[in-house]
Amino acid sequence: MKEHRIPLAGSWRSVGELYTEITNPADGRVVSRVPALERQDVDAAVSAAQEALRTSDWAWDGRLRADVLLQWADRLADRVDEIAERLVLENGKVRREARFEVANQIQVIRYNAGLARSLAGRSHSLGRHVAGLVTVEPMGVVAVISPWNWPIALLTRDLAPALAAGNAALCKPASQTAGATADFLATLAEVGDLPPGILSVVTGSGSRVGQAMVEHPGINMIAFTGDGSTGQRILRDAAPTFKKVVLELGGKSPFVICADADLDKAAGELASAIFTTTSGQICTAPSRALVEASCFEEIAERLCSIVANIKLGDGLNENSTMGPLTTREQYDKVVRHIREAKQNCRLLAGGDIPEAASVNDGLFVGPTIFTDIPPGAPLLHEEIFGPVLTLQSFSTDEEAVALANSTSFGLSAAVFCRDLNRTMRLSREIRAGTVWVNTYNRFYPETEVGGYGDSGIGRMAGESGLREFTQTKHINLDFTPGTIRVGRVG
Ligand code: NAD
Repeated sequence: MKEHRIPLAGSWRSVGELYTEITNPADGRVVSRVPALERQDVDAAVSAAQEALRTSDWAWDGRLRADVLLQWADRLADRVDEIAERLVLENGKVRREARFEVANQIQVIRYNAGLARSLAGRSHSLGRHVAGLVTVEPMGVVAVISPWNWPIALLTRDLAPALAAGNAALCKPASQTAGATADFLATLAEVGDLPPGILSVVTGSGSRVGQAMVEHPGINMIAFTGDGSTGQRILRDAAPTFKKVVLELGGKSPFVICADADLDKAAGELASAIFTTTSGQICTAPSRALVEASCFEEIAERLCSIVANIKLGDGLNENSTMGPLTTREQYDKVVRHIREAKQNCRLLAGGDIPEAASVNDGLFVGPTIFTDIPPGAPLLHEEIFGPVLTLQSFSTDEEAVALANSTSFGLSAAVFCRDLNRTMRLSREIRAGTVWVNTYNRFYPETEVGGYGDSGIGRMAGESGLREFTQTKHINLDFTPGTIRVGRVG
């Protein structure tokens, strides 16, 4: 069991009398302890952030910020394995995925270091003696609130551009994975050139410190990734202080397979994205496969044979290809959906649930596939956030688009097809922030992510992601002769 310390309000906070214990979902053992903060700690972190912005060059000097981000990336490179192991212990994901999650942030941070140096405004000539200077400024103090499923990647996706743009940040990690996140952020807090107070880590419950940040008048923006109901609550609680809120929420992503596609690749990418990637606990999980009728049986067979070879087990075991679910609540929810669906859908694979699982047995649920699902069934429109796939068939492209767009979500989608005209038509008509063609779950720091409809507000990553963390000012300059005097040197 490891006790974690966190950077808070310009110094370090160790585990004291109030702490949160984190258990390993593979066996129920306590593996980490982190400080559990209170409202007054949020006040202290906000004051330190405001002071740091006022007294340091952080908000004004993009080269300083780029330098700090690059130093962070270098430090992180030395600690990937250690942080990844902590992530496996707290989240349950397999070690290969955890290593990828941590190591991949090095390039995300470096990309944002580049943006920090190229963030620029513009000028307009608005008359013989009038100029408009349009400047780009940071929002100020930003709260980054993140979930437990990809806790390091989703935090960095928001934190790196927030810092690149010159903000101070309070990071609120999900309690279930707060030890791994604290270790990860320590690599930034230890960078000597980072002005004290620019980064605070606020561990504690969402309803206490999370809500305290949302309501705090000294916080200027919330960047939230998590559940839709929490997002709605945040919008309401942020309204009295007119904060900017960016929301990255859930999904129910369609995965369209046309008969001419590379069916092996389609089945492989689909199974990886809905089953072995974080046991389906990923917002972009393609939980609805829409398969052209003429290749439906072939896809079903391929999926069943892939599923038969998935090895469910402890993420630290090198033979495991799929870990447990991360939380007891998530386990109960997934099991409830499977039990209900078994009543009125056809089960193609999986669906075995131990009758009375205890936490110490591990929160394991195997890959499960249903078909013949009645219209309107919860399985077709609710986010399950687990390894549960529905298979539906379509005969025309219009039917495929109608099925793809039949939920209130719009986070991501896939089109597997060889015909370019058809691919473009389908990709343009599906309402989703990302459409992957003949591939899935490929994320790059350069390209935006975000949701249509219930999947969110705003865009993260890429240049738009950086711009979310800025505000624009127009300085209008009248330099008619006699109205302005240029000071003499000396
Ligand atoms: P959650 O909404 O329960 O928690 C997310 C974070 O919000 C946690 O840090 C939590 O402590 C905090 N929180 C809870 N109540 C709060 C409040 N009142 N005020 C402020 N903060 C509060 O979500 P989760 O269960 O951790 O994550 C799963 C959800 O996240 C799924 O719906 C998934 O689709 C979504 N998700 C979305 C994306 C995306 O990029 N669109 C990525 C990953 C996960």
